[in-house]
Amino acid sequence: MTVSKIMVVGAGQMGSGIAQVAAQAGYKVVLNDIKDEFVARGMGRIEKNLEKDVSKGKKTAEQKAEILGNLTASTSLQDGADCDVIIEAAVENMAIKSNIFKELDGICPPATLFASNTSSLPITELAAVTSRADKFIGMHFMNPVPVMKLVEIIRGLETTDEVYKIIEDMSVKFGKEPVEVNDAPGFVSNRVLMPMINEAVFCLYETVGKPEAIDKVMKLGMNHPMGPLALADLIGLDTCLSIMEVLYDGFKDGKYRPCPLLRQYVKAGRLGVKVGRGFYSYK
Ligand code: NAD
Repeated sequence: MTVSKIMVVGAGQMGSGIAQVAAQAGYKVVLNDIKDEFVARGMGRIEKNLEKDVSKGKKTAEQKAEILGNLTASTSLQDGADCDVIIEAAVENMAIKSNIFKELDGICPPATLFASNTSSLPITELAAVTSRADKFIGMHFMNPVPVMKLVEIIRGLETTDEVYKIIEDMSVKFGKEPVEVNDAPGFVSNRVLMPMINEAVFCLYETVGKPEAIDKVMKLGMNHPMGPLALADLIGLDTCLSIMEVLYDGFKDGKYRPCPLLRQYVKAGRLGVKVGRGFYSYK
C-alpha cells in the first residue's frame, strides 16, 4: 500500500503539528475539526511556524507555499473517504474518539489505516469499535510535534506487522524516530512521565515548594530541559488529568491517584499554555 493522502482529525496543538510534518513530507493532508474556526486556528498555527522557519532561513518562501498547498481544511469526516491513513488527534476522551472512529469506519474504504494520537487510551479498545482492528495502531507524537523527534508507535492486540511497517515508514518520512511499544495504560512515555508530573503537583498541593522552586530543582538537579509544572502547562492540565485517570483505572493502583489540585485547576479552567494560565500565567 502506498500512502499519499492523510486525514488528521482534530486541529488543536497536536493535530496541527501532525498535519504540518505530514505536509512537509509531501503528503496531501486534510485537516479536520468540528468548526471552521478551529480548523482556521490550526492552519494559522502551521502558517506561523512555517513563517518562522522562512525568517530563520530554514525554508524558502516557495517551500512554505508548497507545504501550505498540500493542506486542505475540513469540517466533515466524509472528507476522509479518499484518504489512505487517518490520524486522529481529537480531545483525550474515549467516547469522543470512539464515535469518530465508528463514523470513519463507515466512510473509509476497508484498506484505510486508522491511527490514534491518544496519550494513554487503550489502542485495542479503540480498535474494537471499528471493523478493522488489524489496521488500527497508536501513533503517539510529542509536543511540539514539528520539533520533537519521537513517535511512540503502539501495536494493538490485532495490529498486523504489515500495518506496523507502513506506519513506521511514514513516521520516518515525517522526519521522526519511531519506537515500537505494546498496548498498556500510558504506554511507556506517559507511564513514566505522568506520575512524575503528578508528584510535582502534590509537592505544590502540600506546600513543599512554590512552582518555580519545584521546577528549578528538576531542571538544575536532574538536568531536565523543563520543570514538570511548566511541562504540564505545555501538555495541557486537562490532558494530564485524563492520562492520570487512565493509569489509575487501568492499574487499579493508588500510586496513580491524580492530585486533587490538578483536578481543581482543570475544573477552574486553568488548563495551561493553551488558555494562557495553568501553574504559571502566559498572558
Ligand atoms: P487540543 O485541545 O489542543 O485539541 C483537540 C482538538 O480536537 C480541538 O481543536 C477540538 O475542537 C478537536 N475536537 C474535539 N472533538 C472533535 C471531533 N469530534 N472531531 C474533530 N475534532 C474534534 O488537544 P491536544 O493537546 O492537541 O491533544 C489532542 C490529542 O493528542 C489528545 O488525545 C491528547 O491526549 C494527545 N496528545 C497530546 C499531547 C500534548 O502534549 N498536548 C502529546 C501527545 C498526545
